[in-house]
Amino acid sequence: MPVLKSNGQHVVRQVQPGLWQIVFHFPASTNCWLWKENDGLTLVDAGFPWSAKAILAAIECAGEPLKRIVITHAHPDHAGAAAEISGKTGAVVMAHSEDIPYLQGCSMAEVPGFWPCRAVLQMGRYFGILNAPSIARVQPLADGEFVGTLQVLHTPGHTPGSISLWAETEKAVFCGDNICTSFRFLHVGMPWFTLDLRAQKASLASYANLPVQLLLSGHGAVYRGDIAYQVRRLLAA
Ligand SMILES: [Zn+2]
Ligand SMILES: [Zn+2]
Repeated sequence: MPVLKSNGQHVVRQVQPGLWQIVFHFPASTNCWLWKENDGLTLVDAGFPWSAKAILAAIECAGEPLKRIVITHAHPDHAGAAAEISGKTGAVVMAHSEDIPYLQGCSMAEVPGFWPCRAVLQMGRYFGILNAPSIARVQPLADGEFVGTLQVLHTPGHTPGSISLWAETEKAVFCGDNICTSFRFLHVGMPWFTLDLRAQKASLASYANLPVQLLLSGHGAVYRGDIAYQVRRLLAA
């Protein structure tokens, strides 16, 4: 994949025509994605609060105007720079309705769920490190809705309003933190940060019903292959 920009902190690659990956190396190899539509670009996830400058430079590299920012879930490594980028570009911010309160100042630490995850969230809230800047206006998304060519799949578990985006034309899924890749292996994503592990696994099962060939995760490398087979293997483990 051609590298368009690279420094010690991040790299911008063109994955294929109309799709770019922005990887922040630390922590946890965190990805944002640019997806080309007829009217301009969709940014899928917005990195950390300090990621705006790098993402804006990647948008310039892609050479199209940014129209919208879709947040796969309201964690600060995915929504962190959304407010700043939206303010600078005029792009609309969109997220599933169930995660919008957590993009606008509410804490997920009080949501019932997996206790280690809640402990991490409560600690983060205490130290002020897991709170992304509040986003004034967020357009709600619902299961089945289309954002350009991307179809929203409500895939809760990691957070109540976690979504995936299915691109039928390219047989690609943006899966947020539901599945992560490391060293060419797929694994169930971020269990320590997942509120409802059972719901997350049920959400993964929905990928097995789609002819996915390209998995675009919130963390880790681009994965090409028979995703349905890999998901069935993960769920059987
Ligand atoms: Zn997450
Ligand atoms: Zn994440």
